[in-house]
Amino acid sequence: MAYEELSQSIVFPLGKKVEANFIGDAYLQMVFTDPTPLNAAIGNITFAPGARNNWHFHKIGQVLLVTGGEGWYQEEGKAARLLKQGDVVNIPPDVKHWHGATKDSWFVHLAVTAGTSQDTIWLSPVEDDWYNNL
Ligand code: MN
Repeated sequence: MAYEELSQSIVFPLGKKVEANFIGDAYLQMVFTDPTPLNAAIGNITFAPGARNNWHFHKIGQVLLVTGGEGWYQEEGKAARLLKQGDVVNIPPDVKHWHGATKDSWFVHLAVTAGTSQDTIWLSPVEDDWYNNL
């Protein structure tokens, strides 16, 4: 899906290019950072085709709300799950995983991440030979 085709599902700003812990072009706009009443921050992440984050885990957990395009979610040791608009992913504490776009499509999700940035632990990149064999 081309970026222009996402126009119906672009709700929040694109934000700024993410510089660390991702491969490819990805953009982040934080949309909710108040520490109360919830102990969670909400970011809008937009991935160009082929972009994905490194393997990582969340100490408390994370929920992904897919707003547009097509992407992947994969937990270590499991098959990758294809994500489309309207899909919701519940990521339990301390489960190693990654998320990102498919090879051919832009992908946009909101990420609701409990705790602070310290509660996300970044690991190794999702290498091309892995990603290209999904
Ligand atoms: Mn995550």
